[in-house]
Amino acid sequence: MSAPAPRVRFAPSPTGYLHVGGLRTALYNYLFARGLGGRVILRIEDTDRTRFVEGAAENLASTLAWAGIAFDEGPGIGGDFGPYVQSERSEIYSAHAQQLLNEGKAYRCFCTPEELEASREKQVAEKRDPAYDRRCRALSEADVQSRMDNGMPFTIRMKVPLVGQMYFHDLVRGEITMHFDSIDDQVLIKSDGFPTYHLANVVDDHLMEITHVIRGEEWLPSAPKHHLLYDFFGWEAPAFAHLPLLLNADRTKLSKRQGDVAVEDYRSKGYLPAALVNFVALLGWNPGDDRELFTLAELEKTFSLERVSKAGAVFDIEKLNWFNAQYLRALPPAELAEVCGPWMRAAGFEAETPARAEAVVSAFASYLTVPSDIGAHLRFLTLGQVTLESAEDRDLVASSDSQKVLVRFADLAETQDPWATPEVKALIKQVQSDTGIKGKGLFMPLRLALSAEQHGPDLGLMAELLGREETVRRIRAQII
Ligand code: GLU
Repeated sequence: MSAPAPRVRFAPSPTGYLHVGGLRTALYNYLFARGLGGRVILRIEDTDRTRFVEGAAENLASTLAWAGIAFDEGPGIGGDFGPYVQSERSEIYSAHAQQLLNEGKAYRCFCTPEELEASREKQVAEKRDPAYDRRCRALSEADVQSRMDNGMPFTIRMKVPLVGQMYFHDLVRGEITMHFDSIDDQVLIKSDGFPTYHLANVVDDHLMEITHVIRGEEWLPSAPKHHLLYDFFGWEAPAFAHLPLLLNADRTKLSKRQGDVAVEDYRSKGYLPAALVNFVALLGWNPGDDRELFTLAELEKTFSLERVSKAGAVFDIEKLNWFNAQYLRALPPAELAEVCGPWMRAAGFEAETPARAEAVVSAFASYLTVPSDIGAHLRFLTLGQVTLESAEDRDLVASSDSQKVLVRFADLAETQDPWATPEVKALIKQVQSDTGIKGKGLFMPLRLALSAEQHGPDLGLMAELLGREETVRRIRAQII
């Protein structure tokens, strides 16, 4: 008998932007489910009201859509297991917490934040790992009742066994053993009545019939508590897969300080979604051979959790740039022109026709890493007048050899038809044989005359893009 189709979820908290690590988690969930004909659920975990950011959930949804990750169920999509926003499910969590209280698997804790902080400081001073000292666990029923009658605020904590150990399996990390004495009596319901992440997450994964929990390694320390909660409720736990950490180049945990971590930063810089997705897919997973370029559809076919590694994956921006360059140059000219359009205009270049924009952008496609690179390549086209800034450049152009090159080039160019890169190159060769001047002495005066720069795009291409008349005009302008 084959296993039922998986149901997986991406469960972000709307606390800001979509982190590249979040994109990787969403992507792996998506790929895993798609490959096996399963369903992908988007669930918004917004129970921490102190960290809630207005509009963040909408931003997450639109960024994921931009990346091409589609969900089968979720807010605004629908499905049989909604609502998919945790703040709309409060009663469900309260009822489940009540059930654990009734069964003696949880207890009310009346400790104030000040008391908890004092106890924490004491433990830290004694060099112990801070954990709740469980003083409310021993309160009598009558004590609890009278505190409640007095209106004392309380939290609900899970009653972790005091001795023994637990075992569980992780699809990436293998067997894990955990001693109960290292697990805190986790708060399940906060004093504001909202559930903590732990309770809401487990209850929802169960009620939404999630079969596989695929998430970042930073949640691994929470996994024992989650497994215990499944035991407390008498539910079968889903399979778990904790994905390796994303690292900076120096192998510290990926952080904002060492580069962009928000997907929207890459989006606004013109990175292509297909390139980012391809790059992110390989952060912690490999196909088992040396293939690197994958479309989303190919990834759906190839991805498997078995090939997810335990080792942290370095977020190498150079590699992302390489992917982006590959995808940019594979774009049809019209799309490339559209992607580069804002940066062409920012560089002061307005194409007269779409065909002209496509021709220009195609000429530089193989030199682009990100679309904004086009700006530097196009600067020469926007110059009204070529002014040589340095004395060195002016002397170079004024030399008699340079002048010979410029005069001969202008004379030949005047009647050259057609006018495209190969003809211009042939023409430069002709100038070389007519004047006997070659190399730098041949190219530099021409380059400076056309762009005022010693370095830049291919000379033939520059002349082609300028057109014959403008090329001749710029060359003649430097003839003394
Ligand atoms: N809400 C958690 C987050 O923000 C979800 C963790 C999980 O997938 O269990 O990442």
